[in-house]
Amino acid sequence: MHFDLSPELADLRQSVRRLAQEQVKPRARDIDTTGEYPADLFEAFRQADLLGLCLPPELGGSGAGILGLTIAIEEVAKYSNTAALMLLLTRLPTGPVLIAGSDEQKRRYLPGIATGELRAAFGLSEPQAGSDVAGMRTRAVPDTTPGHEGGWILTGTKCWMSGVREADWYTVFAKTGDPTRRDHASITAFIVERNWEGVSVGRTDAKMGVRGVDTGELVLDEVRVPAENVIGEVGGFRLAMLGLNAMRPIVAARGLGLAEGALMYATEYVKEREAFGHTIADFQGIQWEIAKVAVDIEAARLLTYRAAWLADQGKFGREHVPFLSMAKYHATELAVRASGLAVQLLGAAGYMADHPTEQWYRDAKQLTIVEGTSQVQLGLIARGVLGHDLWWD
Ligand SMILES: Cc1cc2nc3c(=O)[nH]c(=O)nc-3n(C[C@H](O)[C@H](O)[C@H](O)COP(=O)(O)OP(=O)(O)OC[C@H]3O[C@@H](n4cnc5c(N)ncnc54)[C@H](O)[C@@H]3O)c2cc1C
Repeated sequence: MHFDLSPELADLRQSVRRLAQEQVKPRARDIDTTGEYPADLFEAFRQADLLGLCLPPELGGSGAGILGLTIAIEEVAKYSNTAALMLLLTRLPTGPVLIAGSDEQKRRYLPGIATGELRAAFGLSEPQAGSDVAGMRTRAVPDTTPGHEGGWILTGTKCWMSGVREADWYTVFAKTGDPTRRDHASITAFIVERNWEGVSVGRTDAKMGVRGVDTGELVLDEVRVPAENVIGEVGGFRLAMLGLNAMRPIVAARGLGLAEGALMYATEYVKEREAFGHTIADFQGIQWEIAKVAVDIEAARLLTYRAAWLADQGKFGREHVPFLSMAKYHATELAVRASGLAVQLLGAAGYMADHPTEQWYRDAKQLTIVEGTSQVQLGLIARGVLGHDLWWD
């Protein structure tokens, strides 16, 4: 057992850290204010070869794996969670294809992600079905039109989809079985292309944070999907969902980086700010708050890196779920706590848009909701504890 990064991953961290400091940091506030998609940062990531971190070399990626992507996202999230989300979107919709897709699907849809020629988004949630995915109403019915046999016709609306506007293709889930059934075998994952007839972007959301990458609706109006665009097999929801388990460390990295960025910023501030004839960093009450978050950051980093390592080993099945969920739960709750502390340590200044603290605070809250809320993660952890899947004697 060792805790050092490999030389390749240590180099990756250094180079992304530099890119984040030089290119992401100066843009973060502007992206939040304008809400405009930061095409320049996408280009910077493309030039730095960061869009294919978790894709294997044979598909045009760099093979840095989930741990590599996790480390890159941690660095970028110190300054902008929008930029971190752009990197995350190289894995969220591609995960099910990597895990369960056909060779043909991989060849057709994945190399373009690594080169930046294609972007993708992930459509699971619906207005009435977020945590409760089995409540989805998007339907896929067999296409019986002559010449299209074996294909499917999809109708429904997906919502809150990150990157919906920029995406060229979507991983979309729909009920192929009886729509009143709630078992996983009634749900299938499909690849849907943006330019297909019947595919359109509906309304986009006015968001509290992580502005610049839109979330919004994907409307599917009798969209013809060929049989070869079924991911895995019909009713193969379980396999495709493994992609989400493997995402936990990547979402956790967004929280971890945000917490580090917020603590770094607040620490510099308290060393300068004076009150009662001292800097406020001299007060024990302030020091302890900083120390407590520092402990939590290290705990989150260990949980997150271990989760990424597990995912890279292909260990994201049921027995590993609690460990993956712990990373997501702890790191994202920490992001809310750390950014809240940063606002508090800066006082009124921290509440104003003159400092990035208020933005971090708004951005952090998203992380405890997306890709399985904190309550959903706690449920998964508890199932592992009750089932003695952990370190029980
Ligand atoms: C900014 C943003 C981006 C997003 N991007 C995407 C995306 O790209 N693709 C996509 O498919 N979705 C996306 N989502 C949707 C996200 O995955 C859902 O919001 C999430 O799964 C929670 O679903 P919900 O919002 O419907 O909340 P609900 O499921 O309605 O939950 C409401 C509350 O009840 C709690 N709750 C629910 N069930 C239980 C339970 N069994 N026990 C205890 N508490 C429970 C929840 O924890 C939560 O606090 C995004 C959301 C946001 C905010």
